[in-house]
Amino acid sequence: MNIAFYGLGNMGASMAKNLVTAGHSVKVYDLVESQVDMLASFGATACASAIEAAVDADVIVSMLPAGKHVEALYFGSDTAPALHSVLPKGVLFVDCSTIESSTAKSIGEKLMLNGHSFVDAPVSGGVAGAAAGTLTFIVGGSDADFATAKPILEDMGKNIFHAGAIGAGQVAKICNNMLLAVLMAGTSEALQLGIDNGLDPKVMSEIMLQSSGRNWTLELYNPCPGVMDSVPSSNNYAGGFMVDLMNKDLSLAMSTANNHQSLVPMGSMAKSLFQLHSRSGNGKLDFSSIFTAFKAK
Ligand code: NAD
Repeated sequence: MNIAFYGLGNMGASMAKNLVTAGHSVKVYDLVESQVDMLASFGATACASAIEAAVDADVIVSMLPAGKHVEALYFGSDTAPALHSVLPKGVLFVDCSTIESSTAKSIGEKLMLNGHSFVDAPVSGGVAGAAAGTLTFIVGGSDADFATAKPILEDMGKNIFHAGAIGAGQVAKICNNMLLAVLMAGTSEALQLGIDNGLDPKVMSEIMLQSSGRNWTLELYNPCPGVMDSVPSSNNYAGGFMVDLMNKDLSLAMSTANNHQSLVPMGSMAKSLFQLHSRSGNGKLDFSSIFTAFKAK
């Protein structure tokens, strides 16, 4: 396939590499020239503008910071023309960024009015998953567009889910991440309660793993340093999934909750905790560092 790929950051650079490895013809563009050059040395075609990358593309893939960047790329800005307007009709746009579901819906509507199609395909799995090609893609779009996107997504990921119509991918993704924030904060709180009362966190973790408090953070991502090897908590909370990115997802969860006045007291509490944690200077640490917020100072 001829693929135009936009956004060669922490996630996108590896994803674009995996598309090249899978044998696609990949044209790449990023605002940061050195990232474009890096991908060119890997076999992608470097482009000096977004429009240049789109020439002859069957599929557009974007992996950008937020909704406003996706809108500016697709529909133009003061400095760049609209991507969709220079393409022949019938191109599939696949946005893998994490953005508001309402923005994904309005992007899809506008693209369809212009004769194109769209799926939102946010990911779970982080930088390591992007590098290994094992990302989970959570897709929103029609059955036909999902079927077209799936083989391309399979070249960058392992599990490809169809969540529903356009925007559903974003909803499912932020529901999952809101739950993850709640579980991480709750697990940290419980572990520290045990430690404060003289218990060994390794013993506590083993007990809870075989009891009803068992959850993903205890199984694979223990937040207490020294309990588990090869996780961020045993590496000064370096690497992994940044507190600031969790805060971004929690903000999206709160705005999604507003759409239908959904009750999200646990998510909202988790958001306040992670926000305070970031304001205390921990924004660039892995999100499991929320454990340190429960420690007596
Ligand atoms: P990043 O900031 O590292 O990369 C974004 C890239 O987009 C940058 O290189 C930037 O220069 C480029 N860019 C911005 N506007 C552009 C434009 N108009 N045209 C071309 N390039 C443009 O971000 P990231 O960590 O790669 O995350 C990307 C998306 O994936 C975000 O929406 C994020 O929430 C989501 N995400 C990230 C992770 C993670 O662990 N990093 C995990 C899951 C999902």
